[in-house]
Amino acid sequence: MKGKMKAAVVEAFGSPLLLRDWDIPTPGPGQILIKTEACGVCHTDLHAARGDWPVKPTPPFIAGHEGIGIVVALGAGVTHVVEGDRVGVPWLYSACGHCEYCLSAWETVCASAEFGGYTRNGGFAEYILADPEYVAHIPAGLTPHEAAPIICAGVTTYKGIKEADVRPGQWIAISGIGGLGHLAVQYAKAMGLRVCAVDVDDGKLGHATRLGADAVVNARAGDPVQAVRDVTDGGAHGVLITAPSLAAFKQGVGMTRKRGRCVLVVLPPGEFPLSLFEVVANCITVRGSFVGTRQDMAEALAFAAEGKVKADIELRPLAEINQVFRELGDGEVQSRIVIDFRG
Ligand code: NAD
Ligand code: ZN
Ligand code: ZN
Repeated sequence: MKGKMKAAVVEAFGSPLLLRDWDIPTPGPGQILIKTEACGVCHTDLHAARGDWPVKPTPPFIAGHEGIGIVVALGAGVTHVVEGDRVGVPWLYSACGHCEYCLSAWETVCASAEFGGYTRNGGFAEYILADPEYVAHIPAGLTPHEAAPIICAGVTTYKGIKEADVRPGQWIAISGIGGLGHLAVQYAKAMGLRVCAVDVDDGKLGHATRLGADAVVNARAGDPVQAVRDVTDGGAHGVLITAPSLAAFKQGVGMTRKRGRCVLVVLPPGEFPLSLFEVVANCITVRGSFVGTRQDMAEALAFAAEGKVKADIELRPLAEINQVFRELGDGEVQSRIVIDFRG
């Protein structure tokens, strides 16, 4: 397919994205081309555009890793998808397929992994080039706009909850009720857990209650660690930190029950001090978790297709991407903004 497409391009770290014409990519052997219908905006896109992390993408690049669309062209040798399939191009863009991590279904930590909207161009564009072995397959019954947040925010929190090793009836504390957290509350409830939601914004906490949270704690009102310990009778069995704040990390460890797991999925820049005494003496596990595997993705999408998890979305045009980034950075986004490519 020849011609130009509109894309929001990171030209330099820290500068506004530039809306410009970009060549529509041609799928090479083993690649597919997708016509974008929707792409969610994740806080990670802000980190990418600012060059926040030690491993950086190379400008100019197209961010966005919640892109959903229809397969419109196949490169040579592609057998896994056909034209007309609805797929998503996630953060885990591709992996090597043969290292010890790929072989043990931990492709998310493959040393050769490529990342959508980061080391490969992503979904803030009218077309996306993808690896058919790693795209998400969107179940019938889910609209592309509803599916978009599931392929990053959804799978990341679903996997994070699994990594918290919490049984039905036990407590999970979820810190940060934004794009990731509002889905985490719903996954946790669907998995039979008791949920204590933590945020700094009463509006987000009200939303968590509407989504089924059993208790809420405002981290700016009093001592949130003590509040969670009181609610959960000694600390949550699992804690999931989705708040991009170092203060939330430290508090999250304190909210963890003895022998519990504190799972970090959030990636603010910097290091965080861990109280060794607190971790050792309470036998706490602090665990990182990074998106999810293809199997996690299929499971996370199945919850959404069954109506057990539903992303709250606000649709916006690509032309407003810089305004959307500002709102997300300032904490003004209620749940998830999805860029709408229809029309
Ligand atoms: P978001 O901005 O939509 O939500 C963040 C929420 O945290 C907001 O509701 C905010 O009010 C709340 N918050 C801020 N400070 C807080 C504090 N001290 N205590 C409690 N709550 C607080 O962001 P998002 O899109 O949900 O992304 C969150 C983070 O997750 C980002 O850092 C992103 O890079 C990271 N992320 C990681 C992965 C992964 O695989 N590990 C995947 C996706 C996103
Ligand atoms: Zn993301
Ligand atoms: Zn590998």
